[in-house]
Amino acid sequence: MKKGKIFVVGFGPGATEHITGRALEALQESNYIIGYKTYVELIKHLVTAKSIVSTGMTEEVSRAQDAVKKAEAGGIVSVISSGDSGAYGMAGLVYEVLIEKGWTEAEGIEVEIVPGISAINSCASLLGAPVMHDSCTISLSDHLTPWTVIEKRIEAAGMADFVIALYNPKSGRRTRQIVEAQNILLKYRSPDTPVGLVKSAYRENQHIVLTTLSEMLDHDIGMLTTVIIGNSSTFFYDNKIITPRGYQRKYTLGEGKQSLKPHQRLKKEAEPWALDQETGEAKSGYEEILRKAPEQAPVQQQEQKVQSMDMALKALSMVSKEEVENPFLVRQPIENIFEFSVSPGVANKMITAEQMLVLAEVVGEKGTLEYTPDHHFIVKVTTDNPEAMVVKLEKEHLTVMPTGEVLKVKACDFCYGEKADSIPYAEEIAAKFEGMKLPKQLHVGFNGCGMACYRPVFDDIGIVYRKKKFDLFIGAKPVGRTAHAGQPIAEGIEPEDLIPLVTRIIEEYEQNAHPNERFFKYFKRVKKVLNYDYYDMSCKIEVEPAPCGD
Ligand code: SAH
Repeated sequence: MKKGKIFVVGFGPGATEHITGRALEALQESNYIIGYKTYVELIKHLVTAKSIVSTGMTEEVSRAQDAVKKAEAGGIVSVISSGDSGAYGMAGLVYEVLIEKGWTEAEGIEVEIVPGISAINSCASLLGAPVMHDSCTISLSDHLTPWTVIEKRIEAAGMADFVIALYNPKSGRRTRQIVEAQNILLKYRSPDTPVGLVKSAYRENQHIVLTTLSEMLDHDIGMLTTVIIGNSSTFFYDNKIITPRGYQRKYTLGEGKQSLKPHQRLKKEAEPWALDQETGEAKSGYEEILRKAPEQAPVQQQEQKVQSMDMALKALSMVSKEEVENPFLVRQPIENIFEFSVSPGVANKMITAEQMLVLAEVVGEKGTLEYTPDHHFIVKVTTDNPEAMVVKLEKEHLTVMPTGEVLKVKACDFCYGEKADSIPYAEEIAAKFEGMKLPKQLHVGFNGCGMACYRPVFDDIGIVYRKKKFDLFIGAKPVGRTAHAGQPIAEGIEPEDLIPLVTRIIEEYEQNAHPNERFFKYFKRVKKVLNYDYYDMSCKIEVEPAPCGD
């Protein structure tokens, strides 16, 4: 006898555009469609199956049994679930029925689980971006799960600062669970925590409410609602709920030669969620939106319902005459990581014990210190006072520079100072350009004699001091398997002409290169820098490209 097949199809939130191609194929290939009647209604127009079996909500087991029976008789059957078939859907149940009958993949009927867009994803998309970070789904239905287990999961998720999507939050008969869930979460999360209520996402009666943890119960929540609760850094912005990607922001020293006010140059416009970077603590976006445009606030801040925890804390503080902090409250403030680069200096390669001690002190137990291929230490630390840190390091004669797409100067050790003639030029170049913001990191290499032992010829701009004059190389490709040296563009440059010439090259690159375009790529593209023509210095043998990691 011909064996049939069961598809367990998640058809997404409801709208045809959100059904996957595979789900549609499965529905159209099937002779039978089996599902809860509301769902069957949603997809009926898409199928031609000879039999559509719609059953009541509580008849899930009989639906699965029916599907297995029909497939065993040779039918192609689609059992449908809204959202994803594997998330509180029919997939597990179909397998359970099959297992009871001793089914195995090798011997039994074919089973294909067709995934779909689950409510957490469809609802999140309508709210903005609330699920950007670690999240979980919790079903509040205690129909098949004891409430004590559900309670523990809410507690754990609250404690661990997960973004939470509550499925099956409330029904006509089940009204207590959502109240208890709110109470548990208020122990760990601020009453202002953004909450989104999405009812019937991508269906006809779609309804979206932006509210807060303390006020969410003032709104209609039902069987068709998913409740999305933000984590401790989630905020409102322009009628959207947004959770930052992480709890850390990086910043470095400013452009050009730093005047050491890095936090003033933090790019707020690039990271609109970091609303209060100066203090390191993001302000509640809700407060911010109220301040900017009270009428935009999704919920009016009327008399706030006083939560029981609040009351308890207030009572406690009255007795003790001091403000009592909620000991459970999870606050995961946005951490600002100050990132910068340190070196013992452009001509100096020695690092003293005192310098190491100061560096160790600055890095502390939580910071990191990383040595780079271009002879710098990258320091990453959290600090309230980046300026003091820089002052401390500079006092020990360490050079502090920004990280990122900036100009870096590397010089030889001038044979430990024995070939000192050209050191002032190296220092002048460093003083003038180091840390300058550019389309991409640019390395200037400087060598104090014709041995060129620090390989300036392999830097974007290479300068070699020889017989009291300078030779200049540009356009090296320093990395990759097709690496090559730069091309010599000028020899015997008079010392007074060197810095003006280098300045013009850097300025041309700064003004004309595309963002992220390395110097050698720029040179290859435009074929001319100043009046120096480009020559192809690359190896002529074909080498297969190998991106990082391959
Ligand atoms: N398999 C489904 C979940 C079924 S449990 C999925 O992956 O999405 C039923 C619960 O899912 C509902 O109580 C509601 O909380 C949520 N839900 C399903 N579809 C929804 C929709 N279109 N809009 C909002 N919530 C939805």
